[in-house]
Amino acid sequence: MTAPTPTGRSKVLMLLTSDFVTARYDALRARAPELEIVTELGSDTDPDVTALFAFKLPAGVAPRLPRLQLAASVGAGADGILSAPDLPAHVKVTRAIEPGLGLSMAQYVVLQLLRQFRGLPAMEAQHAAGEWKRLAVPDAREVTVGIMGLGAIGAVVADAVCALGFKVIGWTRSESRAARVPVFVGEAGMEAFLPQCDYLVCLLPITAQTVGLLNRAHLSKLPKGCFVINASRGGIVVEQDLLALVAEGHLSGGAFDVFANEPLPPTSAFWRHDKVLVTPHIAAQPSVAPVVDQFLDNLRRLKHGEPLINEVDRNLGY
Ligand code: NAP
Repeated sequence: MTAPTPTGRSKVLMLLTSDFVTARYDALRARAPELEIVTELGSDTDPDVTALFAFKLPAGVAPRLPRLQLAASVGAGADGILSAPDLPAHVKVTRAIEPGLGLSMAQYVVLQLLRQFRGLPAMEAQHAAGEWKRLAVPDAREVTVGIMGLGAIGAVVADAVCALGFKVIGWTRSESRAARVPVFVGEAGMEAFLPQCDYLVCLLPITAQTVGLLNRAHLSKLPKGCFVINASRGGIVVEQDLLALVAEGHLSGGAFDVFANEPLPPTSAFWRHDKVLVTPHIAAQPSVAPVVDQFLDNLRRLKHGEPLINEVDRNLGY
């Protein structure tokens, strides 16, 4: 399909697949009352819809929008849009990034890191038992935190963890970004990166290259006792491999905000596991107002043929 011309009537489709999307829908309506927004497709095709604003794009929707030019994710990851098998190649994809997002993620990672590093579960158990027992205070300067992904979010997290005195190293796909920490690149760099990580923090997008990346082979290269924090996307960690390595004593445990299947089913072995902590995909969320403004700005840019903000490289998948 060839790219449609950006003229004529403009309508936005929002797929209200969760409360998260509905909050952005309410804000968009309030911010741009003149904009025509629909939440479902009435007939077979809708030739007026030029933009989609959603978290997930199911198969079968995009082919019914012959003038679609922009598919904007309401979230920081565009994987829910890019995974649609029938999104035409000419459609531009954007994601939602704003400065508060990196800060929220830094808070989440620091929370999980310090909880483990300073032994908070043991102190809470002592509190419950009324036990006064002084635990040794470890030295962060002797501990290496490895961060996979030093993008818009990972770079902010790296700064926050550095500020606490930890040694921080990073792992990326390319050498294109300036980083304030030592960086290891690609598959070859991973061989040197993983064995150094006392803590491993995953902040990678999920792509064809990163899905299932943290499998037994790679996780086994972490040093014994490493603690894993995954706050990006569930499918990057092979959950059974990780739990097996915890059971074998190779990994000390982990904190997980994201899972291959969400909501995490009640039967999951992650729940009530004494060495892992589950949080329900709440590590960080882009604030509503800047994301809605970014979407409106991108609609305007699209109309004027200007470059879009936070456009995703569809070939790379992020
Ligand atoms: P970003 O700006 O696109 O940065 C991605 C980073 O990952 C870059 O450093 C990139 O390397 C690296 N990377 C990508 N593919 C790679 C590969 N194959 N091998 C090695 N490194 C690779 O993304 P971001 O804004 O920081 O966000 C990261 C992810 O966090 C999002 O995609 C989303 O899934 C997740 N997230 C989760 C939550 C939550 O609440 N749990 C909230 C927000 C975001 P280069 O530097 O070489 O490009």
